[in-house]
Amino acid sequence: MDVSLSGASLPWQQPQLDRLLASWNSGRLPHAWLFVGSAGSGKLAFIRRFGNLLLCRQPHAGQPCGTCQDCRLLLAGTHPDWLLLQPEGKQLKIDQIREAIDFAQNTAQRAGVKLIVLQPAEALNANAANALLKMLEEPPPSTYFFLLGEQPGLLLPTLRSRCQRLVFATPAAATALEWLQTAGLSGSDAALCLTLARGAPLQALALARQGAAAGFQRLLQTLQALLEGRSTVVQAARHCEDLGIAAAIDYQLLGLSALLLNLQAAQPLALSELQPLQQQLQPRSGLGLLRRLHTLQQHLQAARRLALATNNANPLLVLEALFADWCQLASAAASP
Ligand SMILES: [Zn+2]
Repeated sequence: MDVSLSGASLPWQQPQLDRLLASWNSGRLPHAWLFVGSAGSGKLAFIRRFGNLLLCRQPHAGQPCGTCQDCRLLLAGTHPDWLLLQPEGKQLKIDQIREAIDFAQNTAQRAGVKLIVLQPAEALNANAANALLKMLEEPPPSTYFFLLGEQPGLLLPTLRSRCQRLVFATPAAATALEWLQTAGLSGSDAALCLTLARGAPLQALALARQGAAAGFQRLLQTLQALLEGRSTVVQAARHCEDLGIAAAIDYQLLGLSALLLNLQAAQPLALSELQPLQQQLQPRSGLGLLRRLHTLQQHLQAARRLALATNNANPLLVLEALFADWCQLASAAASP
Protein backbone atom coordinates (compact mmCIF):
# COMPACT_ATOMS: atom_id res chain seq x y z
CA MET A 1 0.00 0.00 0.00
CA ASP A 2 1.29 3.45 -0.85
CA VAL A 3 1.62 5.29 2.44
CA SER A 4 1.45 8.65 0.71
CA LEU A 5 -1.95 7.70 -0.73
CA SER A 6 -3.44 5.82 2.17
CA GLY A 7 -4.07 8.78 4.41
CA ALA A 8 -2.16 6.98 7.17
CA SER A 9 -0.78 9.41 9.69
CA LEU A 10 2.93 10.08 9.87
CA PRO A 11 4.08 10.14 13.50
CA TRP A 12 6.26 13.25 13.17
CA GLN A 13 3.37 15.35 11.78
CA GLN A 14 1.13 15.28 14.84
CA PRO A 15 1.90 18.92 15.86
CA GLN A 16 0.87 20.18 12.42
CA LEU A 17 -2.27 18.03 12.44
CA ASP A 18 -3.20 19.26 15.92
CA ARG A 19 -2.78 22.85 14.78
CA LEU A 20 -5.01 22.49 11.73
CA LEU A 21 -7.65 20.50 13.57
CA ALA A 22 -7.79 23.04 16.41
CA SER A 23 -8.18 25.81 13.86
CA TRP A 24 -10.88 23.85 12.01
CA ASN A 25 -12.78 22.94 15.17
CA SER A 26 -12.83 26.58 16.25
CA GLY A 27 -14.41 27.46 12.89
CA ARG A 28 -11.53 29.72 11.94
CA LEU A 29 -9.45 27.67 9.52
CA PRO A 30 -7.61 30.19 7.29
CA HIS A 31 -8.56 29.65 3.67
CA ALA A 32 -5.03 29.61 2.26
CA TRP A 33 -2.01 27.72 3.52
CA LEU A 34 1.58 27.42 2.47
CA PHE A 35 3.18 24.17 3.54
CA VAL A 36 6.96 24.42 3.50
CA GLY A 37 9.26 21.40 3.67
CA SER A 38 11.77 19.41 1.67
CA ALA A 39 10.66 16.86 -0.94
CA GLY A 40 9.69 13.61 0.73
CA SER A 41 9.02 15.15 4.13
CA GLY A 42 5.37 14.18 3.70
CA LYS A 43 3.48 17.39 2.91
CA LEU A 44 1.19 15.74 0.36
CA ALA A 45 0.58 12.75 2.63
CA PHE A 46 -0.31 15.21 5.37
CA ILE A 47 -2.86 17.16 3.36
CA ARG A 48 -4.42 13.93 2.09
CA ARG A 49 -4.77 12.89 5.70
CA PHE A 50 -6.25 16.21 6.80
CA GLY A 51 -8.52 16.34 3.75
CA ASN A 52 -9.67 12.83 4.49
CA LEU A 53 -10.59 13.84 8.05
CA LEU A 54 -12.66 16.77 6.76
CA LEU A 55 -14.37 14.81 4.01
CA CYS A 56 -15.03 11.50 5.84
CA ARG A 57 -18.70 11.01 6.78
CA GLN A 58 -18.02 9.05 9.94
CA PRO A 59 -14.60 9.82 11.41
CA HIS A 60 -13.96 8.02 14.65
CA ALA A 61 -11.51 8.96 17.42
CA GLY A 62 -9.69 11.38 15.14
CA GLN A 63 -9.37 8.81 12.33
CA PRO A 64 -11.16 8.74 8.99
CA CYS A 65 -13.23 5.58 8.71
CA GLY A 66 -11.64 4.49 5.45
CA THR A 67 -14.82 2.78 4.28
CA CYS A 68 -17.49 5.44 3.67
CA GLN A 69 -18.07 6.58 0.12
CA ASP A 70 -16.14 9.83 0.68
CA CYS A 71 -13.11 7.95 1.99
CA ARG A 72 -13.26 5.58 -0.96
CA LEU A 73 -13.60 8.40 -3.50
CA LEU A 74 -10.67 10.21 -1.93
CA LEU A 75 -8.49 7.11 -1.96
CA ALA A 76 -9.35 6.59 -5.61
CA GLY A 77 -8.43 10.23 -6.31
CA THR A 78 -11.91 10.96 -7.65
CA HIS A 79 -13.57 12.85 -4.79
CA PRO A 80 -15.56 15.74 -6.33
CA ASP A 81 -14.57 18.17 -3.55
CA TRP A 82 -10.84 17.46 -3.74
CA LEU A 83 -8.64 18.96 -6.46
CA LEU A 84 -4.93 18.17 -6.67
CA LEU A 85 -3.02 20.25 -9.21
CA GLN A 86 0.44 19.08 -10.24
CA PRO A 87 2.60 20.34 -13.10
CA GLU A 88 1.81 19.41 -16.66
CA GLY A 89 5.35 19.24 -17.95
CA LYS A 90 7.37 21.45 -15.64
CA GLN A 91 4.85 24.17 -14.83
CA LEU A 92 1.49 24.72 -13.20
CA LYS A 93 -0.28 26.60 -15.94
CA ILE A 94 -3.09 29.12 -16.26
CA ASP A 95 -5.50 26.48 -17.61
CA GLN A 96 -5.08 24.52 -14.40
CA ILE A 97 -5.87 27.62 -12.32
CA ARG A 98 -8.97 28.16 -14.50
CA GLU A 99 -9.94 24.60 -13.64
CA ALA A 100 -9.46 25.50 -9.97
CA ILE A 101 -11.62 28.63 -10.41
CA ASP A 102 -14.45 26.53 -11.90
CA PHE A 103 -14.03 24.00 -9.12
CA ALA A 104 -14.13 26.73 -6.45
CA GLN A 105 -17.25 28.32 -7.94
CA ASN A 106 -19.23 25.09 -7.80
CA THR A 107 -21.04 24.24 -4.61
CA ALA A 108 -19.33 21.59 -2.56
CA GLN A 109 -20.94 18.35 -3.65
CA ARG A 110 -20.65 16.15 -0.63
CA ALA A 111 -19.12 17.32 2.63
CA GLY A 112 -19.66 21.05 2.41
CA VAL A 113 -15.99 21.94 1.96
CA LYS A 114 -13.67 21.94 -1.05
CA LEU A 115 -9.93 21.49 -0.98
CA ILE A 116 -7.51 22.64 -3.65
CA VAL A 117 -3.93 21.41 -3.38
CA LEU A 118 -1.08 22.76 -5.52
CA GLN A 119 2.12 20.77 -5.55
CA PRO A 120 4.76 22.06 -5.94
CA ALA A 121 3.64 25.67 -5.69
CA GLU A 122 6.98 26.86 -7.12
CA ALA A 123 5.89 25.37 -10.44
CA LEU A 124 3.23 28.08 -10.87
CA ASN A 125 4.18 30.18 -13.87
CA ALA A 126 3.65 33.95 -13.74
CA ASN A 127 0.17 33.95 -15.33
CA ALA A 128 -1.03 31.10 -13.16
CA ALA A 129 0.36 32.71 -9.99
CA ASN A 130 -1.44 35.98 -10.75
CA ALA A 131 -4.74 34.23 -11.45
CA LEU A 132 -4.40 32.28 -8.21
CA LEU A 133 -3.61 35.49 -6.32
CA LYS A 134 -6.85 37.08 -7.58
CA MET A 135 -8.78 34.07 -6.33
CA LEU A 136 -7.10 34.23 -2.91
CA GLU A 137 -7.88 37.94 -2.63
CA GLU A 138 -11.60 37.15 -2.94
CA PRO A 139 -11.75 33.65 -1.60
CA PRO A 140 -14.72 31.55 -2.69
CA PRO A 141 -16.83 30.24 0.22
CA SER A 142 -15.98 26.91 1.87
CA THR A 143 -12.88 26.48 -0.27
CA TYR A 144 -9.43 25.91 1.21
CA PHE A 145 -6.16 26.24 -0.66
CA PHE A 146 -3.00 24.37 0.21
CA LEU A 147 0.20 25.40 -1.56
CA LEU A 148 2.95 22.85 -1.03
CA GLY A 149 6.50 23.98 -1.62
CA GLU A 150 10.17 23.39 -0.99
CA GLN A 151 11.42 26.87 -1.82
CA PRO A 152 8.81 29.46 -0.84
CA GLY A 153 11.29 32.22 -1.76
CA LEU A 154 10.50 31.44 -5.40
CA LEU A 155 6.81 32.29 -4.97
CA LEU A 156 5.29 35.70 -5.63
CA PRO A 157 5.66 37.63 -2.34
CA THR A 158 2.04 38.78 -2.62
CA LEU A 159 0.93 35.17 -2.95
CA ARG A 160 3.07 34.13 -0.01
CA SER A 161 1.67 36.85 2.18
CA ARG A 162 -1.90 35.64 1.54
CA CYS A 163 -1.09 32.24 3.01
CA GLN A 164 -0.72 30.94 6.51
CA ARG A 165 2.66 29.23 6.70
CA LEU A 166 3.16 25.78 8.18
CA VAL A 167 6.63 24.23 8.29
CA PHE A 168 7.25 20.51 7.82
CA ALA A 169 10.72 19.74 9.11
CA THR A 170 12.50 16.53 8.26
CA PRO A 171 12.05 14.26 11.29
CA ALA A 172 14.92 13.08 13.47
CA ALA A 173 16.76 10.16 11.89
CA ALA A 174 15.72 7.76 14.66
CA THR A 175 12.03 8.59 14.12
CA ALA A 176 12.38 8.23 10.35
CA LEU A 177 14.26 4.91 10.63
CA GLU A 178 11.67 3.48 12.98
CA TRP A 179 8.88 4.47 10.60
CA LEU A 180 10.71 3.02 7.57
CA GLN A 181 11.15 -0.27 9.39
CA THR A 182 7.46 -0.28 10.29
CA ALA A 183 6.83 0.15 6.56
CA GLY A 184 8.75 -3.09 5.98
CA LEU A 185 12.34 -2.06 5.27
CA SER A 186 15.31 -3.81 6.84
CA GLY A 187 17.46 -1.71 9.16
CA SER A 188 20.35 -1.44 6.71
CA ASP A 189 18.13 -0.63 3.69
CA ALA A 190 16.31 1.98 5.77
CA ALA A 191 19.58 3.65 6.80
CA LEU A 192 20.95 3.63 3.27
CA CYS A 193 17.79 4.92 1.61
CA LEU A 194 17.31 7.60 4.25
CA THR A 195 20.84 8.84 3.56
CA LEU A 196 20.16 8.75 -0.19
CA ALA A 197 16.98 10.76 0.43
CA ARG A 198 18.86 13.28 2.57
CA GLY A 199 16.72 12.44 5.58
CA ALA A 200 13.28 12.69 3.92
CA PRO A 201 11.37 9.55 4.95
CA LEU A 202 8.77 9.30 2.16
CA GLN A 203 11.46 9.87 -0.42
CA ALA A 204 13.49 7.14 1.29
CA LEU A 205 10.56 4.73 1.10
CA ALA A 206 10.03 5.51 -2.59
CA LEU A 207 13.74 4.94 -3.26
CA ALA A 208 13.68 1.65 -1.37
CA ARG A 209 10.74 0.47 -3.46
CA GLN A 210 12.66 1.35 -6.60
CA GLY A 211 15.48 -0.94 -5.43
CA ALA A 212 17.86 1.87 -4.48
CA ALA A 213 19.72 -0.16 -1.85
CA ALA A 214 20.61 -2.91 -4.32
CA GLY A 215 21.38 -0.30 -7.00
CA PHE A 216 23.78 1.54 -4.72
CA GLN A 217 25.55 -1.72 -3.83
CA ARG A 218 25.89 -2.58 -7.51
CA LEU A 219 27.37 0.80 -8.25
CA LEU A 220 29.89 0.41 -5.42
CA GLN A 221 30.90 -3.05 -6.60
CA THR A 222 31.35 -1.68 -10.10
CA LEU A 223 33.59 1.12 -8.83
CA GLN A 224 35.57 -1.33 -6.77
CA ALA A 225 36.18 -3.57 -9.78
CA LEU A 226 37.10 -0.55 -11.86
CA LEU A 227 39.62 0.82 -9.37
CA GLU A 228 41.18 -2.60 -8.90
CA GLY A 229 41.64 -2.93 -12.65
CA ARG A 230 39.19 -5.85 -12.92
CA SER A 231 36.88 -3.91 -15.20
CA THR A 232 37.11 -1.32 -17.97
CA VAL A 233 35.14 1.92 -18.07
CA VAL A 234 33.06 0.52 -20.93
CA GLN A 235 32.16 -2.60 -18.95
CA ALA A 236 31.46 -0.53 -15.84
CA ALA A 237 29.13 1.80 -17.73
CA ARG A 238 27.23 -1.14 -19.24
CA HIS A 239 26.93 -2.72 -15.81
CA CYS A 240 25.27 0.39 -14.35
CA GLU A 241 23.31 1.64 -17.36
CA ASP A 242 19.97 0.20 -16.27
CA LEU A 243 20.11 2.00 -12.90
CA GLY A 244 19.08 5.11 -14.83
CA ILE A 245 21.46 7.97 -15.36
CA ALA A 246 20.13 10.20 -12.55
CA ALA A 247 20.29 7.40 -9.97
CA ALA A 248 23.70 6.23 -11.13
CA ILE A 249 25.02 9.76 -10.70
CA ASP A 250 23.25 10.26 -7.35
CA TYR A 251 24.78 7.08 -5.95
CA GLN A 252 28.24 8.22 -7.03
CA LEU A 253 27.69 11.63 -5.47
CA LEU A 254 26.51 10.09 -2.25
CA GLY A 255 29.50 7.75 -2.05
CA LEU A 256 31.89 10.50 -2.97
CA SER A 257 30.65 13.01 -0.41
CA ALA A 258 30.82 10.37 2.34
CA LEU A 259 34.41 9.54 1.24
CA LEU A 260 35.34 13.21 1.20
CA LEU A 261 33.99 13.77 4.71
CA ASN A 262 36.00 10.79 5.86
CA LEU A 263 39.29 11.62 4.10
CA GLN A 264 39.19 15.37 4.54
CA ALA A 265 37.54 15.91 7.90
CA ALA A 266 38.49 12.59 9.47
CA GLN A 267 34.82 11.88 10.19
CA PRO A 268 33.76 8.26 10.51
CA LEU A 269 32.34 6.75 7.32
CA ALA A 270 28.61 7.49 7.13
CA LEU A 271 27.94 4.27 5.19
CA SER A 272 29.70 1.04 6.07
CA GLU A 273 29.16 -0.11 2.47
CA LEU A 274 31.92 2.30 1.46
CA GLN A 275 34.65 0.67 3.50
CA PRO A 276 36.32 -1.26 0.64
CA LEU A 277 36.54 1.88 -1.51
CA GLN A 278 37.81 3.93 1.39
CA GLN A 279 40.47 1.38 2.23
CA GLN A 280 41.64 1.46 -1.33
CA LEU A 281 42.05 5.22 -1.33
CA GLN A 282 42.99 6.16 2.23
CA PRO A 283 46.48 4.71 2.67
CA ARG A 284 47.71 6.81 -0.21
CA SER A 285 45.54 9.87 0.22
CA GLY A 286 47.25 13.16 -0.40
CA LEU A 287 46.50 16.61 -1.67
CA GLY A 288 46.50 15.34 -5.25
CA LEU A 289 43.81 12.82 -4.40
CA LEU A 290 41.62 15.33 -2.53
CA ARG A 291 41.87 17.73 -5.45
CA ARG A 292 40.82 14.99 -7.83
CA LEU A 293 37.91 13.99 -5.58
CA HIS A 294 36.67 17.58 -5.63
CA THR A 295 37.05 17.77 -9.39
CA LEU A 296 35.13 14.53 -9.74
CA GLN A 297 32.40 15.92 -7.49
CA GLN A 298 32.08 18.94 -9.79
CA HIS A 299 31.92 16.68 -12.85
CA LEU A 300 29.21 14.59 -11.23
CA GLN A 301 27.17 17.66 -10.28
CA ALA A 302 27.46 19.06 -13.80
CA ALA A 303 26.47 15.72 -15.31
CA ARG A 304 23.51 15.53 -12.95
CA ARG A 305 22.27 19.00 -13.93
CA LEU A 306 22.62 18.07 -17.58
CA ALA A 307 20.83 14.74 -17.11
CA LEU A 308 17.93 16.51 -15.37
CA ALA A 309 17.74 19.30 -17.94
CA THR A 310 17.78 17.11 -21.04
CA ASN A 311 16.40 13.71 -21.79
CA ASN A 312 18.64 13.00 -24.74
CA ALA A 313 22.04 12.60 -23.09
CA ASN A 314 23.56 9.21 -23.99
CA PRO A 315 23.70 7.49 -20.59
CA LEU A 316 26.48 5.11 -21.60
CA LEU A 317 28.75 7.91 -22.78
CA VAL A 318 28.06 10.02 -19.67
CA LEU A 319 28.80 7.08 -17.37
CA GLU A 320 31.96 6.15 -19.28
CA ALA A 321 33.29 9.68 -18.88
CA LEU A 322 32.53 9.69 -15.15
CA PHE A 323 34.05 6.25 -14.59
CA ALA A 324 37.16 7.39 -16.44
CA ASP A 325 37.42 10.14 -13.80
CA TRP A 326 37.23 7.52 -11.05
CA CYS A 327 40.08 5.64 -12.75
CA GLN A 328 42.20 8.75 -12.52
CA LEU A 329 41.61 8.71 -8.77
CA ALA A 330 43.26 5.32 -8.60
CA SER A 331 46.33 6.66 -10.34
CA ALA A 332 46.29 9.70 -8.01
CA ALA A 333 46.12 7.37 -5.05
CA ALA A 334 49.04 5.40 -6.43
CA SER A 335 51.22 8.51 -6.81
CA PRO A 336 50.26 11.14 -4.21
ZN1 LIG B 1 -14.94 7.80 5.89
